[in-house]
Amino acid sequence: MNCNVVVVGAGFGGLSTAILLARLGLRVTLAEGAPRAGGCLRSYSRQGVECPVGVHYFGAAAPGEMLGDFFDLLGIRPELKLRRLGQGGVIDRFQFDDGEVFDLPDTAEKLEDSLRARFGDTPAAVAFVMDVCRAAMASLRTDGAGSPTPPAMPATRLAADVLAEKALPSRLVDILALQGFLLGVNLSACPASFLMMATASLLMSAWELGCTGADLADGLVALARAAGVALLVGDPVVAVQVSHRRACGVRLQSGTAIAADTVVAAIHPKTVVAMLPAEALPAVYREGIARLEETGGTLGVVALLDDKRNPAPGHNVFRVRGTPRQSVKGVYAQLRPSGRPGYNRLTVLTESDYASWAAWHDTQTGQRGSAYSAEKLRRAEQAMAEVAEALGPLHQPQIIDIWTPLTMRDWVGAPQGNTYGARHSIRDGLQYLALSRPPLEGLFLVGQSALAPGLLGIGMGVLHVASAIAGRFAVRELMAASRQAAKGV
Ligand SMILES: Cc1cc2nc3c(=O)[nH]c(=O)nc-3n(C[C@H](O)[C@H](O)[C@H](O)COP(=O)(O)OP(=O)(O)OC[C@H]3O[C@@H](n4cnc5c(N)ncnc54)[C@H](O)[C@@H]3O)c2cc1C
Repeated sequence: MNCNVVVVGAGFGGLSTAILLARLGLRVTLAEGAPRAGGCLRSYSRQGVECPVGVHYFGAAAPGEMLGDFFDLLGIRPELKLRRLGQGGVIDRFQFDDGEVFDLPDTAEKLEDSLRARFGDTPAAVAFVMDVCRAAMASLRTDGAGSPTPPAMPATRLAADVLAEKALPSRLVDILALQGFLLGVNLSACPASFLMMATASLLMSAWELGCTGADLADGLVALARAAGVALLVGDPVVAVQVSHRRACGVRLQSGTAIAADTVVAAIHPKTVVAMLPAEALPAVYREGIARLEETGGTLGVVALLDDKRNPAPGHNVFRVRGTPRQSVKGVYAQLRPSGRPGYNRLTVLTESDYASWAAWHDTQTGQRGSAYSAEKLRRAEQAMAEVAEALGPLHQPQIIDIWTPLTMRDWVGAPQGNTYGARHSIRDGLQYLALSRPPLEGLFLVGQSALAPGLLGIGMGVLHVASAIAGRFAVRELMAASRQAAKGV
């Protein structure tokens, strides 16, 4: 088999890279190890209810905003049937141990009002936070609209250090630290430039899918096929081939070899390094990748609730545990219509250490036995009890599924079942900034570990890599054409 580019892994990173490169005229093969494409995007069904995995909400997806433009570039927007979140004025409700509740509202103006009301005795602190927030929002606009950009936060400094210099009230730091939940990084490791990015994107425009995650995955597959991408599923890549100090293709588990000028790996960087001959990369790079820490694992619970006794609020809740400025912990919950008459669907996500499931390390999904099921249930009930502290009593919840970091490990090949790939930590030096361009000609990395996790972070990384492969101007032309087309709709 022969092509210009082989993309490894068909999650959001791999699928979107394959679509763009094929539209830019390259012959693209996309190799996915699982039987179906989609990775974390793909939802699954339990008792006739669609259960989401890796797409709960996202921001900056209106036209003229970073993710919105990326959706238009892919041509996926009509499929998404996007629903605006926060129509009741609240996107996320944070509830702390001491009972304080802080609402993340749906606009920067409202956030400024609520910060002034809560932290009125430290106006300089509020002004600083709003400056950082508006800078982040401006950097996510693609249409140049809005006021001149205030100074942005540096990528090379630790968020915790920058905040310490400003002597902000502790609770305000806690609120800022909470967005680490969406990035898998605590304030003590978070690059300052990441601070406010996730929150800023939600304040621009917050959305959830109106279609299922499976529809989104299938929609991207259809666009890839229409663009001419050859999609191979159910045959994992086991080696990246190298010739004359250049990546030149991959070998699949079945033995099939695919020759290519360029390899784009949309999987975890540690997995990529393990697929390369040892001499292909400088030792210092390999050691740097081996040292990268992982983001934590997640316990996921899906339950059905009577929709009269537990009506769905228009926002998400986060029952925060402990002190977020030290470590972000807690239980995040979304209560939404289930699609099954009479029931709402409760989705609960809480951090769960991979090591705490060590007893089942050598087992596979579906074959872990009754002790594992009992332990899952115990932890799920504990998480549900915490959710009830924020949502109010849950009336006779019926748990329809529970998954753990082991499930994620088996589902998408995430080392240690990590939720957001490698941790983007400034403690790893600038390694986290350089991941998309390993020091081997013809090899690129995209996906959540490469630049930043989430649909937004991945989209930004994919544009960067597509520009490096096909040329900045070619990508810009494609974007300009898609903006024109989006305006015409
Ligand atoms: C619980 C959870 C909640 C989340 N919530 C949100 C949210 O609300 N909003 C948001 O924006 N983001 C969210 N995210 C993050 C987002 O889902 C991910 O960042 C994104 O989907 C990752 O895409 P990816 O392409 O990098 O990786 P993946 O989706 O992991 O895809 C990697 C693909 O590569 C395949 N693969 C692995 N090894 C091989 C191999 N050797 N050969 C071939 N194929 C291989 C896997 O099977 C998989 O299909 C969440 C993630 C999780 C886990």
